[in-house]
Amino acid sequence: MSRNTENTGFACVHCHARVVPVTNGSYRNHCPFCLWSLHVDHRPGDRASPCRAPMMPIGFKHSKKGLQLIHECTGCGKRQPNVVARGTAQDDLDAVLRLMESESAYAT
Ligand SMILES: [Zn+2]
Ligand SMILES: [Zn+2]
Repeated sequence: MSRNTENTGFACVHCHARVVPVTNGSYRNHCPFCLWSLHVDHRPGDRASPCRAPMMPIGFKHSKKGLQLIHECTGCGKRQPNVVARGTAQDDLDAVLRLMESESAYAT
């Protein structure tokens, strides 16, 4: 916490973990540990939204791109799907699975 980390990632709004940026040509906009995000994109990756409110992970859907995580903005209510990160900066699959379990608990 004492070193200057501004150029090396961001601190998660929800669990305060240090999130390291993805360097493999993709981008990361959500925390790999608790899966919360920030509403910074108007369209995925453009960082054009003025909202900046935390976005809560609310569920998943399967698409041609693979598993997508759905975020809902706690500020404006916008829902946005995100492809679950793979490769060098994988999401915490335990967190993914916990969310899936709580989601199916909701559905029943
Ligand atoms: Zn987090
Ligand atoms: Zn928003």
